[in-house]
Amino acid sequence: MVLKAVTGSLPCVGIVGLGLMGGSMGLDLRRQGYRVIGVSRQAATCDRAIARGAVDEAGCELERLAAADVVVLCLPIDRVGAIATQVIPHLRPTAILTDVASVKGAIVAEITPQWPRFVGGHPMAGTHESGIEAAQFDLFQGRPYVITPTATTDRAAIATVAALATALGSVVYECAPTAHDRAVAWISHLPVFVSASLIAACTGETDPQILALAQHLASSGFRDTSRVGGGNPELGTMMARYNREELLRSLSTYRDTLNDLINQINTEDWAGIAETLTETHAARSPFVDDPPHPHE
Ligand code: NAP
Repeated sequence: MVLKAVTGSLPCVGIVGLGLMGGSMGLDLRRQGYRVIGVSRQAATCDRAIARGAVDEAGCELERLAAADVVVLCLPIDRVGAIATQVIPHLRPTAILTDVASVKGAIVAEITPQWPRFVGGHPMAGTHESGIEAAQFDLFQGRPYVITPTATTDRAAIATVAALATALGSVVYECAPTAHDRAVAWISHLPVFVSASLIAACTGETDPQILALAQHLASSGFRDTSRVGGGNPELGTMMARYNREELLRSLSTYRDTLNDLINQINTEDWAGIAETLTETHAARSPFVDDPPHPHE
């Protein structure tokens, strides 16, 4: 889908926060002919974004955003709300505002009353690196991009953000912010805390020789299951802080499930264990193998 502004040309896109997400978005959009204006906290980041071709122009001044038709906030979760409040006075009245943060309920509730053309967004794409140097082409290609409007969100603004996500090669999903937060708690936030608790439990081995042996023997199974728990501590903390209720709900179910497994092993219920593992074997595929299908 090609996104056209009323003038017939591609809209001018402002990106606030030129890190992994903002820089990657800029690279893809500029390649397609969009004009991209960048704003970031550090002048050095702005210079690198220009040098890398992620933006046409960039600086630390929010005034630059007055020229943008669409502004995308690509900031750390705990900065999005406060910076949106600073950005809004600089927007033209018709401008559409969106963000890419991994948690939606709190952010949508904070910004929507301030700007009727705000549409929450979350591209389900990324790497474990951060900053402008980590920005890359095609980061969003083929990945789900969740848009989380409310009942009052301007429909034209939703269509514009959906078209921008489609231009990035993403598969667009639309759902309520609460549904988003509950779903990502299961598949993104819970895994971080399960994986972190796995690492923490292993380091609880009290015999130093056994611990050292385990560290030498650890291979692909441990590498896979510990990967997200060994990631960025700030991001994990923000997931817990900004999606607290849904994370607690999923962790509590996880604890119950773990207790059931402990009971099965304790009582030597091998048939029960086999049944559980047969069920989980079959249940994994829809989470990891099916291509994403957009749904309203
Ligand atoms: P990042 O690489 O650390 O980039 C964030 C950028 O925000 C930094 O480069 C920083 O710019 C800028 N920034 C920080 N405070 C600022 C401020 N007060 N004013 C202006 N700019 C400021 O982080 P990211 O991975 O792109 O994540 C950004 C958002 O995307 C987060 O909300 C995250 O939840 C969401 N997200 C991330 C992923 C992922 O895998 N990483 C996936 C989906 C969604 P300076 O360099 O100028 O300081």
